[in-house]
Formats: sequence, structure tokens, C-alpha cells
Amino acid sequence: MADCRYIPECDFYHDRLDGMPATAEFMKTLFCHKQVESCARYLYQYHKETDEVPRDLMPYEKDKAQQLMDGAS
Ligand code: SF4
Repeated sequence: MADCRYIPECDFYHDRLDGMPATAEFMKTLFCHKQVESCARYLYQYHKETDEVPRDLMPYEKDKAQQLMDGAS
């Protein structure tokens, strides 16, 4: 898959979140450039049609993204 469409504004991609994991660069390669639709932040942003992604939502937290989407819709 192509690079994530949200790269320009993504706070995770640009290291703007508190508590960035040590594996962030690996995650960017994996999620942002290869498995975009597996990224929790992508899913949240895509389905909620918002730029306001929770600051503590990490790419690997797909279940948490689903709960947030279910609870807030
Ligand atoms: S894949 Fe996820 S972490 Fe990467 S740029 Fe897109 S929304 Fe951000």
C-alpha cells in the first residue's frame, strides 16, 4: 500500500506526542509506509473524519481505537 495520507499532519509521525516509544521509527516504517490500514491512528482519523486524534493513541492500539470510535459515535 502507498504511504499514509495523514503523514503531513500526523503527530506520531512527526514525534510530537509525549512518551514516543523507542520503537517509533520501526513503527513508522511498518505502519506509515507499509500497513497503513493496520494503524490505530489512521483508522480513527479515517472513520471519524477528524484531525483530532487522541494524543495517547499509538499505531498498534487498534482495539483501543475501535473502542473510542464505538463509544464516541
Ligand atoms: S499510519 Fe498512522 S501513525 Fe503513520 S502517519 Fe498514518 S495515521 Fe500517522
